Amino acid sequence: MAALRARTVLLTGSNRGIGLELVKQLLGGPRPPAWIFATCRDPEGPRAQELRDLASRHPNLVLVKLDVANPSAIADAAKIVEGKLKGAGLNLLINNAGIYAQVSLETVDSEEMIRAYRTNAVGPLLMAQAFLPLLKKAAQNSTEKGLSCSKAAIINISTVMGSIQKTSESFFKPVISYRCSKAALNMLTKCQALTYGEAGILCVALHPGWVKTDMGSQEADLTVDTSVRGLLSVLPVLSEKHSGNLLNWEGKVIPW
Ligand code: NDP
Repeated sequence: MAALRARTVLLTGSNRGIGLELVKQLLGGPRPPAWIFATCRDPEGPRAQELRDLASRHPNLVLVKLDVANPSAIADAAKIVEGKLKGAGLNLLINNAGIYAQVSLETVDSEEMIRAYRTNAVGPLLMAQAFLPLLKKAAQNSTEKGLSCSKAAIINISTVMGSIQKTSESFFKPVISYRCSKAALNMLTKCQALTYGEAGILCVALHPGWVKTDMGSQEADLTVDTSVRGLLSVLPVLSEKHSGNLLNWEGKVIPW
């Protein structure tokens, strides 16, 4: 199996759930990145204790404060990361942070729609804009042909629940704001792939499966360990033929 060779990685929402497990498995992998920028809303707070413990043992792990719903916080984080990279580029941006609310067509209101949209769709859009110069730099500095996560990539952690074609299979959970915001994220991924491909940047949306986290609940199918192992085995095989698609944690394409 191909190994992920990204030297610099940045993740959002990395203090718990899938984001935290991604950090752990990246650190423990056969070729850990030279720098992992693990971002979260409150790196000093109680919810980031595990991340701080990891950072105390791994000098290549840098914690950065970042609320993806706050445009100025995104700009500040991009400056901090640029400073740390000292002229190097960013190979891999993983937009993982997300929110979910149990709302139906009857109960959802405009505030909840906008709240979900801001975090799940606008956040990843602004993240890609802010980190684009560093992603471009990574692509330019790479000698690799084609597109890959080892060269320069934006991975948007999305969900099958944002697939219009698949909606009827899971509509017993309407979660309207979540579905609509993730459908927007899927469209964003396609637009990013069509735009950023020319600069050598791969753009893919990944569905992690139904995972036992705070969001997925303990009823979910997959442990976070299994899901993240799957995601990390999919990343190294992604190429231009996958860019602009939604794939699951096993690498299977999910229809839009
Ligand atoms: P969790 O609820 O366990 O964790 C969500 C993470 O996102 C937390 O770190 C949280 O930080 C962070 N976050 C939320 N809002 C923001 C924000 N505005 N800025 C920065 N960070 C934020 O979720 P999962 O780990 O399960 O989900 C991760 C991703 O996977 C999400 O995008 C989700 O939609 C997707 N997904 C999950 C599935 C599942 O079954 N679990 C299924 C399909 C997709 P904080 O601690 O500060 O709240």
